[in-house]
Amino acid sequence: MDEHAAQPPHLTPARRAVLGEAAAAQAEELMAENVSVVALTFVDTAGIVRVKAVPVERLGQAAALGVGASPCFDAFLQDDSAVPARFTGGAIGDLRLHPVPERLTPLPALPGWAWAPADRYGQDGAPHPVDGRAALRRETDRLAAEGWSVRAAFEVEWTTAPEFAGPAYGMTRLIDAAAYLRDVVQGLAAAGIAADQVHPEYSPSQFEVSVAAEDPVGAADTTILVRQVIRAVSREHGVAASFAPRTGAEVGNGGHVHLSLWRADEGGPVSVMSGGTGPCGLTPEGEAFTAGILARLPALLALGAPSVVSYLRLVPSHWAGAFACWGLENREAALRLITGPAGTGTAADTEAANVEVKCFDATANPYLALAGLLAAGRAGLAAGAVLPAPVTTDPALLDAAERDRLGVAALPASLDEAVAAFEADPVLAEALGEPLADTVAAVRRGESALFAGASPEQIIEAARGRF
Ligand code: GLU
Ligand code: MG
Repeated sequence: MDEHAAQPPHLTPARRAVLGEAAAAQAEELMAENVSVVALTFVDTAGIVRVKAVPVERLGQAAALGVGASPCFDAFLQDDSAVPARFTGGAIGDLRLHPVPERLTPLPALPGWAWAPADRYGQDGAPHPVDGRAALRRETDRLAAEGWSVRAAFEVEWTTAPEFAGPAYGMTRLIDAAAYLRDVVQGLAAAGIAADQVHPEYSPSQFEVSVAAEDPVGAADTTILVRQVIRAVSREHGVAASFAPRTGAEVGNGGHVHLSLWRADEGGPVSVMSGGTGPCGLTPEGEAFTAGILARLPALLALGAPSVVSYLRLVPSHWAGAFACWGLENREAALRLITGPAGTGTAADTEAANVEVKCFDATANPYLALAGLLAAGRAGLAAGAVLPAPVTTDPALLDAAERDRLGVAALPASLDEAVAAFEADPVLAEALGEPLADTVAAVRRGESALFAGASPEQIIEAARGRF
């Protein structure tokens, strides 16, 4: 079922040949569609999408041999300055970017361009230890070895300039932005992405697209593609799009992650998020996976809300999920359980239930964010973790004593707090491996120092054009 998981850890000559032939065949098709350049992207530790591009004629060779890229980006901050990191970065050395043939896609609204995510390897064909996509593939494989798979999807919220005013969720704003939104949806469809829904969000000029769930690596690839399509369509319409957690508006842009856990079964994977005897119909395994994530949310924020501006969004009573708790359809809980429609007589009855991680945003490297979530969920499974009572109100409305009684704590209110929790977390350290975990902490500390003394306005202004 998982088309990404089976890649060998090392690029053997045989694997290079397979990659090269697949990409060369696809290059022929792309040329027939008038594509002349292919953008190969990877996401750095700070969450910036970095790129090298190759002429389409060179794609086969690029897939087999890779395209040179400096390891410096692993230690970059969002402003392109770099921190000293123990395991990566610097001017010395070279990595190889290998486009992933199965995700090659012509880019709508960018005529002549196609896109593919890249896997990063060393020149010797060893996976780059600081590569987020490799880390996520590893975590997916570890769950698979224990008989589990995960379906995941990222919601994308963004704000535009100039402004489309009009009320939150309002038809007026939709009509003002109708041609733009239509082109976004058509662009996504042309890129092979089925939008589940699109709507004007709460803040002025804010919009949201949600997409179908898929395997974790696929979901992370897809959210990168979704953002590039939105950005490209925006430019065609003379609009600047920003996915930053705050762009000025009072309610920020989330990057919520939907997750469901599935057990391998003879007839195909079966969701364990519903049909059980646990809270809200969770099975024991669905509960354990969810509880594992809940227990590690403070540390996970270093992966999912990894920038200083993240904490200007992650505030109570803004639907961002600023409290470590869970609740059925509770949009103020960091984990919102969604059971989906019931009694439809369709697959939705048994397959729609999922947990939504609301406290994450789009400054996250989506591969790292998901790798952390999978590791936390797996630890919960191993421990048979159980959930506390669900929270049925906005936790901000409870007094401190009541929150204590329910075991509800405020999530970290700053990047520094989140990094401290991350550095103290052995599960995430083990899952990412020392080079990656160490680099994450170094970059987060660097981001924090970068904005020391900056005003909220300066922090928001700096992030707006970067994400
Ligand atoms: N914009 C909100 C956020 O910052 C989320 C709104 C929603 O629940 O869709 O996460
Ligand atoms: Mg939303």
